[in-house]
Amino acid sequence: GKVLVTGANGYVAVWVVKTLLEQGFAVRGTVRSESKTTHLRSLFKSYGDKLEFAIVEDIVKEGAFDEAVKGVDAIAHTASPFHTHAKDPSEIIVPAVQGTVGILTSALKHGTSVKRIVVTSSCGSILEEGPDPKTFSEADWNERAIREVEAKGAASTAADKYCASKTLAERAAWKYWNDHKGEVSWDLVVINPSYVYGPILHDVDKPEHLNESMRMFYDATVAGTTSKEVLNWGSSWIDARDLGLAHVLAVKTPEASGERIIVSQSVFKLQDFVNIAHRLYPQLPAGDTSFNPATAVYFQAYDTSKIQRLFGIKFHTMEEMVKDSLEDFKARGWI
Ligand code: NDP
Repeated sequence: GKVLVTGANGYVAVWVVKTLLEQGFAVRGTVRSESKTTHLRSLFKSYGDKLEFAIVEDIVKEGAFDEAVKGVDAIAHTASPFHTHAKDPSEIIVPAVQGTVGILTSALKHGTSVKRIVVTSSCGSILEEGPDPKTFSEADWNERAIREVEAKGAASTAADKYCASKTLAERAAWKYWNDHKGEVSWDLVVINPSYVYGPILHDVDKPEHLNESMRMFYDATVAGTTSKEVLNWGSSWIDARDLGLAHVLAVKTPEASGERIIVSQSVFKLQDFVNIAHRLYPQLPAGDTSFNPATAVYFQAYDTSKIQRLFGIKFHTMEEMVKDSLEDFKARGWI
């Protein structure tokens, strides 16, 4: 079969593309411009014409995906803004929501061969930051970020803007599905990853241009520019390689139909990563040496029984993730 992957040049998406190709799928990737295909063509050249591209300049434009969805068996919609420089929340909410509704609408009109659509949401549409530690499940929705953004607009935090964009986009996906399920040939699966870390395959010329989550990782473990306060911040995380596999299993597994699926390995504080990095590479920063993992309070944990029941993935450990990420940085001359 052939799978359409949107935002194919992104950190997570390249792992989705790689895993699909390894498992024998053909892939059509959407990117914003022709120049963004160069790196991917060279990375996956051994797969020849199993990988093709569709240029979608603006995912917000009506009908943007009308051509791209034609003739594919499944869609993985990963394209969505994840950055901290939006002023008005609409700068990230509009592409997140319109991009999602747009691809579903194109699939309704032109995706006659499509059997499954996988939307990459986030644990940001599940977790609500609160004063007490909590284990969240697929039953939880992040209403708080939407309230914050509605009340504070441009003055709301970057995290709330991003989480609101993911919650609203995911909610729009489920609403679209409920409104149109009688008219379409496909079903919907939503993947909710926690923070994603691990080696990078996408095109990055220098650390400052890393995607949001890996820049956070690099700043803490290598650059040493992260404040003590932020080193003691954490959430839950997943390895990008496991997330790539989770997307492929979401495409392939009939029982995943209609499910929202949390993909998460374990809790972390950034200082946990720093401790491993410093042990492996003593020249790297030690960070907050007063940190004690035994007494640290981990606020956002997830119940991952659903993904284990449906997919049974053996996730990479934190040690493996940190080690392999640093080896990747080293190979790039960043350490
Ligand atoms: P990247 O920034 O590496 O990739 C984002 C992708 O989306 C890029 O291909 C980017 O294109 C595209 N994109 C963003 N905004 C637009 C837009 N306005 N129009 C068209 N394309 C756009 O981020 P990640 O790989 O980390 O994120 C991929 C997905 O995973 C997102 O849906 C994100 O919300 C989700 N996610 C990520 C997590 C993480 O920790 N990294 C955690 C949980 C979920 P371009 O390169 O041209 O800008």
